[in-house]
Amino acid sequence: MPSMSVSPSWFRSLLPVLLIMAIHIGIGHEMITSLSNSSVLVNLPYVLFFTSLMIAQIFKQSRMGMLAVAQLLAYAVIQFRLQTPLTSGSTLLELSLLALLFPISCVMSYVFRDSGLVTKDFLYYLLAQGMFFLWSLLILDHFNQGNFPDIFTQLLSSVPQISRLPFILFLYLIVLSGITMLLLLRKNRKLDAVVYTSILLTSDVFVFFHIPHISSILFSISGIFLVLYVIAAGHELAFNDRLTNIPGRAALDNAMKHLGRRFTIAMIDVDHFKQFNDNYGHDTGDDVLKLVASRLRQVKGRAKVYRYGGEEFTVLFKGKTTEEAFDYLEALRQDIQDYDMHLRNTDKRPKNDKLGRMKRQKNQANSTVNITVSIGVSDSQSSRDPQEVIKYADQALYKAKKTGRNRVSAMNVVDK
Ligand code: GH3
Ligand code: MG
Ligand code: MG
Repeated sequence: MPSMSVSPSWFRSLLPVLLIMAIHIGIGHEMITSLSNSSVLVNLPYVLFFTSLMIAQIFKQSRMGMLAVAQLLAYAVIQFRLQTPLTSGSTLLELSLLALLFPISCVMSYVFRDSGLVTKDFLYYLLAQGMFFLWSLLILDHFNQGNFPDIFTQLLSSVPQISRLPFILFLYLIVLSGITMLLLLRKNRKLDAVVYTSILLTSDVFVFFHIPHISSILFSISGIFLVLYVIAAGHELAFNDRLTNIPGRAALDNAMKHLGRRFTIAMIDVDHFKQFNDNYGHDTGDDVLKLVASRLRQVKGRAKVYRYGGEEFTVLFKGKTTEEAFDYLEALRQDIQDYDMHLRNTDKRPKNDKLGRMKRQKNQANSTVNITVSIGVSDSQSSRDPQEVIKYADQALYKAKKTGRNRVSAMNVVDK
């Protein structure tokens, strides 16, 4: 079921941390050492990042593709340039430049919108990577000619007890890992998870660079995460409704196959929505549907919400009867009734006062409207067949509309 694939944000944040801890505890262990020595592990990150790139192209997830490019380049630089001791030549400076520029490359993906990989945007991203590369070469050239100002050398001093990476970069990586983790905890989008995971895992590589094979191990883990997230993002795209970004009809059909013995289905329909469109315009109607969807998403009782089609939504409660689900639905109805929806660009002011229960207030820039929904509900006591239960829920919805709208109406076994 697609909605089941949404892991909680705390899980997405904690998993990479736990993996890092497990790797550090396991380093030196025979199994990890023998695995690390194999050429398979050294090349695994390349395979994973190329795989991510191909899947990103298939699912038009260019931002995930950008993360794949950033990691591919960082890993290649580590493999081709940084296999000498940190004390020799410019190795530490090269590592420092990489530690500085890699997180910027990751965060830069937020600037773009998702598309395919053969686009101008993706080319701009590649060009930016090229600029970073050239800039690094210039700095290295400066360094090799002995023109490096003392101030920079001081800036690059490290606290060896913590890491051989310059202390300032150590702090920079901690702060960026923290910020991206907070963003993930707040928003829990797949891109947030990928940006956070990439920055956290590579930061660990930079900080513990002296540990043999650390880059192959952690970039491989990061590559596995990337492949999984890019597949999950594609999956979400296929099953989510474009307008409201909640699971759509295909996801509902899928979920109905796995309902178990006891379940409740509620059908929700926006009241007088045709009139709303006529008065405020179709685009504003779309905005309202998005708002309604985002309110419905807050439903309690471990229910799942789907867009059934048009201005109709479906809520599924697994393992609950109508009686057990009723209060959650009543709370939803109340919440939507009380929610002041601020409309943008409503140059189309209401033409008349026939807006039923929709109240409106004009203030200087925006107008606020309140809309209501009617809800019909039925459960597995009425029928074991989910399609039949939907039919009964629809009849209950009809009853709610007939008896004044803005109410929850149940179809009981005795009503049949
Ligand atoms: P009722 O209270 O009886 O449900 O009245 P209603 O006007 O909501 O019902 P009706 O089924 O007659 O109209 C539904 C309207 O919803 C028709 C259509 O214009 C609008 N609608 C359906 N899908 C969308 C959409 O994706 N965007 C917008 N803006 N409007 C939509
Ligand atoms: Mg309708
Ligand atoms: Mg309606």
